[in-house]
Amino acid sequence: MIRLMKIRFALLLCLVSGVAFGASPAASKPVRALLITGGCCHDYELQAKAFVEGSKKFGDITWTVINEGGKSKDAKFALYENPNWAKPYDVVVHNECFADLKDIAYVRKITAAHQAGTPAVVIHCAMHTYRTLAEDDWREFLGVTSRRHDHQSQYPVKAIVTSHPAMRDFPAIWTSPMDELYVIEKLWPNARALATSKSEADGNTYPVVWENSYHGTRVFGTTFGHGNATWHDPAFIALVSRGLLWAAGR
Ligand SMILES: [Zn+2]
Repeated sequence: MIRLMKIRFALLLCLVSGVAFGASPAASKPVRALLITGGCCHDYELQAKAFVEGSKKFGDITWTVINEGGKSKDAKFALYENPNWAKPYDVVVHNECFADLKDIAYVRKITAAHQAGTPAVVIHCAMHTYRTLAEDDWREFLGVTSRRHDHQSQYPVKAIVTSHPAMRDFPAIWTSPMDELYVIEKLWPNARALATSKSEADGNTYPVVWENSYHGTRVFGTTFGHGNATWHDPAFIALVSRGLLWAAGR
């Protein structure tokens, strides 16, 4: 009888200590990241691989990659039909290119999840996705309005807010690999430029890296990321990885 009680006590101790050690703070849990990618004009398979592999160095990130739409300019993701599509994730990365998709009800299924608090990272052609829509919902979420880009070149990038966690270790001047400079028509009121580049075409300076507060939700963005060379550049991988961790609150 005593022996049985001892076994029971030992079992209870195991259970209690198991709970105690299992209850780690949120900061030590992996960041659950969803990457939405696909569409026109870019090698999204390579880009997804480069980001997933390269980001491992910067934090414990569990990735889910949804690469759909082939080279289409107007494909839709079935995922968004579920109103709770973003719930299982700490951060969603938008690196897609569907410039011709014109369906505001569809777009609002995406922005609603971010408005409800799911942080985001927005990269390159995400800024031209849904660009033919008259409504500004997507652009307000991004933090920038852009509808076109300059020619490809190696653009010197000037860090503006060096104290931002995403800009840690970012070189004071970094020259991009061959990439497109997106013409920013408007930086939204709750957005702040973190780095800029100068257009070789019109001489204007445009944000190329920024943060946005979308109804209080963190959004980190960059307009670079066109070619594979950019995704092979360690400074770019560090930037988007640190931006992701910042957006996720880490
Ligand atoms: Zn591009």
